[in-house]
Amino acid sequence: MKAWQDKIRSVVPYTPGEQPNRPQMIKLNTNENPYPPAPGVRAVLDGFDEDRLRLYPDPTAHALTGVLADHYHVGEDQVFVGVGSDDVLAVAFMTFFNSDKPIFFPDITYSFYPVWADLFKVPYETKALTEDFSIRPEDYYPENGGVIFPNPNAPTSVYESLDVIEDILIHNQDVIVIIDEAYIDFGGESALALLDKYENLLVVQTFSKSRSMAGMRIGFAIGHPDLIKAMNDVKYSFNSYTMNQTSLAIGAAAVADDAYFRECVGRIKATRERTARELKALGFTFREPSANFIFASHPQIDAKDLFAALREADIYVRYFDKPRINQYLRITIGTDEQMDKLLAFLKEYINKLRG
Ligand code: PMP
Repeated sequence: MKAWQDKIRSVVPYTPGEQPNRPQMIKLNTNENPYPPAPGVRAVLDGFDEDRLRLYPDPTAHALTGVLADHYHVGEDQVFVGVGSDDVLAVAFMTFFNSDKPIFFPDITYSFYPVWADLFKVPYETKALTEDFSIRPEDYYPENGGVIFPNPNAPTSVYESLDVIEDILIHNQDVIVIIDEAYIDFGGESALALLDKYENLLVVQTFSKSRSMAGMRIGFAIGHPDLIKAMNDVKYSFNSYTMNQTSLAIGAAAVADDAYFRECVGRIKATRERTARELKALGFTFREPSANFIFASHPQIDAKDLFAALREADIYVRYFDKPRINQYLRITIGTDEQMDKLLAFLKEYINKLRG
C-alpha cells in the first residue's frame, strides 16, 4: 500500500440506472418522461445567444426561483434551486442533518439517502415499512436528527396521505423534515399545503420526471425563508454557480407552459391506469401506483429472471437485488405503444412458462 492511500476518502457510491443507447430499446428503467419538454423550451433553445455563455450565470438563479415562487404561490425567498433534486437533497443533508442523533428514513426508499448520510458522516436509522410498503408514523416519534422520505415513495410508488405527513411533523418539531416529492405530480396532494403550519418542513421537487427534463438537471426546494437562507449559505460555500445559463432559461420556459404540463401528466396517468389493469390481468400484484412507475411482483415468476429476459429483448426496467424487494420490478410508465410492447412480451413469457 502506498503511503498516500490512507488519505483518500473511500465511499460506496450510489448506482444510477443504466443509460443504454440502443435504437430499438424500450427504456423503462429510470422513471424518465416519454414525452418531450414543453414547446416553449425549443423556442428558447432556438433563440439562445451563445454569447451569453461568456458570462457567469446569475448566482441567485432569479429567472428560475422567480417563476417557481409565482407558480407555487410562495415568496422567492422560499425557493432554492439546484442541479437536479439530487443536488438539492445533498445540500439539504449538509445543511440540516448535523446532529449526533440518527436521521430516520424508511428501509425501502431512495437508495441515495444512505449514500449521502455516509458521505456527510450523518448517523442514520432505517424504519421498516409494513408488509404492504406503508410508513408507520409512530416509528418516527423517537428523538432523531431529522427525517426524510419520498412521497410517493420510490421504488414502491406508494403515496402517504397528508395526515401521515402531518402526524410525523407534529412529532418532529425540533428537527428538519424533508419530503422528497420527485413524483408528486403523478398522484397525491403536495406537502406544500402544510408549509404555512410547519416551518421545519422542506419540500423538494424536480424537473426530471413530470417536466420531461432529466437531461437538463433542475431540482428545487420550497420551505421557510430561514431554511432556504441556510441552504444558500451552504451553496455559496461550495459552488456559487450551480445553475447554468441554459437551465435557467429553459427551466423558466417549462414552468410557464402549465397546459402542456397538465396534458403530459394526464397522459402518463391514463397509461398507468391501463397498464396496471393489464398487469393485474396477467397475475402481477402491486400497491396502487401514485408515481410514474409501477412496482410489481408476480407469484409465479422470478423477478431477476424476468428482468434479464426483458433486457435481452431490449426492454429495460429496474431490478433491485435487495432484501424484501428482490422479487419486484420497477417499471416506468412510457408511451402507450411502449407499454403495449412490454405487455405483449410479458404475455408471451407467461404463456411459455405455463407451457
Ligand atoms: N428523489 C427520488 C425519490 C428519485 O427517485 C430521484 C430520481 N433518481 C431523485 C430524487 C433525483 O432526481 P433528479 O436529481 O433527477 O431531480
